Amino acid sequence: MAASSNSKSNSTDTEADKKSPKGLVTDDEDYGYYFYPEREEKKKKSYFERVLSRDDASNFTCRMNVQTCMEKNPMVKLMVGALSSHGCPVDMKRHISCEPCLAKVSGGFDPKTMQVVLCQNNIQNKDVCCNVLAHELLHAFDFCRAKVDFENLRHLACTEIRAANMNHCSLAAAYAIGEASLFGVKERHQLCVKNKALQSILLVRNVPKEEAMIAVDEVFDRCYSDTEPYGRRCFKSMPRAKRALDEARNYYDFD
Ligand SMILES: [Zn+2]
Repeated sequence: MAASSNSKSNSTDTEADKKSPKGLVTDDEDYGYYFYPEREEKKKKSYFERVLSRDDASNFTCRMNVQTCMEKNPMVKLMVGALSSHGCPVDMKRHISCEPCLAKVSGGFDPKTMQVVLCQNNIQNKDVCCNVLAHELLHAFDFCRAKVDFENLRHLACTEIRAANMNHCSLAAAYAIGEASLFGVKERHQLCVKNKALQSILLVRNVPKEEAMIAVDEVFDRCYSDTEPYGRRCFKSMPRAKRALDEARNYYDFD
């Protein structure tokens, strides 16, 4: 399971609440599935049980947000188009699932069911929903394109580097807090991507931090320079996202 942590601002990678809850971590590796209780045991609820469930309202809101993201968000539309072009069309009802999750996890991609999980209890608004959805669809894209083995630490590191690179770390933010030189900005952007990828790995894998850092470093150069299917990094600004979407129309088939 590749998961992403809840990010209220969509971009920062310094929040302390991204740690996996120690009480939930078992000695046995389960690759993050414990965050998604409904993945392990499909709860068989009757219609009335579901209607009366307090999860129902947040599930409805989540599904409405997903629909809006699919129709309007350029990052999500680009990912859906790219997946389709690679032979993995996205059916909203089949491949995207809004579920309650444990801790502060905001989403994940489950390769066993080919489903993106969105954590309805942890995603606060539409913008966060679109960002999490685009992040998880990128994992789905890597799985579709390159058959990523999420249980392989280096594979996981690579896809998390790519997601952080294209969806989370803003070059503008790196510029704002960095030195006013191109060198400083580039360094800071790479550091942001490394940190974000590391946090994402540690959220789902019960491995020593050093081991995760080594995996990130080993694959960093290759995975950082691979910006498919976006073609460019740093999607914090909508104009950039829309531009990428327009460019992608030339080689991907979507509305
Ligand atoms: Zn991720």
